[in-house]
Amino acid sequence: LELNLVPVHSENGEFAGVLLVLQDVTAVRRLERVRSEFVANVSHELKTPIAAVKGFAETLLSGGVKDEETARSFLQIIFDESDRLNRLIGDILELSKVESRRVPLVFSPIEIDAFIDKTVQVIAAQAEKKAISVETDLEEGLYVEADEDRLRQIMMNLLANGISYTPEGGKVLVRARSLDEDHIAISISDTGIGIPKKDLPRIFERFYRVDKARSRSSGGTGLGLSIVKHLVELHKGTITVTSEVGEGSTFTIVLPVLQESAITG
Ligand code: ADP
Repeated sequence: LELNLVPVHSENGEFAGVLLVLQDVTAVRRLERVRSEFVANVSHELKTPIAAVKGFAETLLSGGVKDEETARSFLQIIFDESDRLNRLIGDILELSKVESRRVPLVFSPIEIDAFIDKTVQVIAAQAEKKAISVETDLEEGLYVEADEDRLRQIMMNLLANGISYTPEGGKVLVRARSLDEDHIAISISDTGIGIPKKDLPRIFERFYRVDKARSRSSGGTGLGLSIVKHLVELHKGTITVTSEVGEGSTFTIVLPVLQESAITG
């Protein structure tokens, strides 16, 4: 609780008394702390690629690199790190939008099996490169009211993770089923590296990565799952994960069939 004394004056400017204002500031403080932690994280994440770009550009500019092959490899690093910066900034902006709920969702009825088949086709090329098969097991006739672009974003993120954290020759399985009259469940399972028990509760936190080096080399920013979780929650849904190290992971989204706003108009 925070106590504030506010002097009160009468209309002719004379001192009339003091107003006591008691305010519960814990929520405000918590928000401030979360915000400043976020800014610190963001700065740290941006500094690494910027330092690389700057360092390699400096070396090239100094004229110390004589052979062309080395020069090209330095330029490639500069290019890759700029690309990474671009992705980071894109994800940071996206996260800040979904966190502050500044995303207008446009709900429409979506037929789940056709929607998932289409989404899987888009990601197929990425899976083929690693000889990963993407299979589906979809109950027919399932509909949800959702923002189609956002739902695709959720699915693409989880599918991309499944492919990225699964070794060559593995499998990703997408299932959809009705849970009860009002809810459906979509799960994305992989036969990948899995997630250690101790990390499971934290993987939806922004910038949290089980293995930084691995996430970096696969182009990850550590923001994907935070964005996904917010998007699922904007749909009044939930997301959970189960995993076994060395065997694979399953992410399950439960979504209400109808959105409240859509029911009440
Ligand atoms: P990233 O950009 O690093 O993939 P995410 O927010 O998408 O960030 O995921 C956070 C972390 O969770 C990843 O760095 C990885 O350690 C772990 N993770 C996410 N999906 C999977 C998966 N399907 N299998 C194993 N680990 C995963």
